[in-house]
Amino acid sequence: MQPDDDSTRARSLSLDILERYRQVYRASRNAEPLLRYGRRTIAVSTIAQQFYCEKAVQLSIERPLAPTQSMRDGVAGHEAVSSLGVTMTQQEAIEAAVVAREVPVCVYEFRIGWHHHSGATILGFVDEAWFRNAHVDLVAERKFSSNPAIHAPYHVQAGLYCLGLGEMGFGTECSRYRISVFSRQCHDCASLASGECPTVAIGADSHTCDRGASISRTFPFERESVHHDLEWALEFWTGKREAQATTNPSRCRACRYQRMCNRTQT
Ligand code: SF4
Repeated sequence: MQPDDDSTRARSLSLDILERYRQVYRASRNAEPLLRYGRRTIAVSTIAQQFYCEKAVQLSIERPLAPTQSMRDGVAGHEAVSSLGVTMTQQEAIEAAVVAREVPVCVYEFRIGWHHHSGATILGFVDEAWFRNAHVDLVAERKFSSNPAIHAPYHVQAGLYCLGLGEMGFGTECSRYRISVFSRQCHDCASLASGECPTVAIGADSHTCDRGASISRTFPFERESVHHDLEWALEFWTGKREAQATTNPSRCRACRYQRMCNRTQT
């Protein structure tokens, strides 16, 4: 294909993806609020939390508590890394993603949204997405935790980002996702903010310094498995079933909603 053909095809595809995204966003504002709690939209991060404890998600809505310092630190850490990127509009980000190129381009804080057949609109921000020729090479997700392990909800979240990018019109065959987990102390690290931390700079599997530690692993995107997780999670939002509490006692011990939870009162 000639360069002119490539650029025409890329422009047409980017307009198509952008228009589809805008339609999803508009519909999410105007649609009947058919989901639990009168919602129209569900965030990818909320769906991921359901895989930690769905009961805790329910309580966080019905009896919300103020964010903790560690939650605020996590947000600050995310902002520090995303500040490495150049601010782009959604249109510019999509245009960059579809360009034919040899080396993938990274877009930080890529906004995604798609409509699910249940009536829910799923929305999210991908920390870091690497694109080449309208294909998703890699989704990178960062977490800050006192427990340096890659938990199931992290897989769900990163997998849903891949799924959502596919629903928007990007190619996701052979896509992968990388999960990096940093110590909480890393949230205001200057090396992390500048992109010099080896976990960010070269994707090192692990790194320890006098301040904190991090691990990072890459996994293949498995569409069927992620699709199955999403169907299960949306059964709660569409009222098909009640919230399921975790059966993992260590999660309950660390839970802020422990005192309000039926499961731990019985
Ligand atoms: S106490 Fe346990 S079951 Fe109850 S909301 Fe918290 S994590 Fe879930």
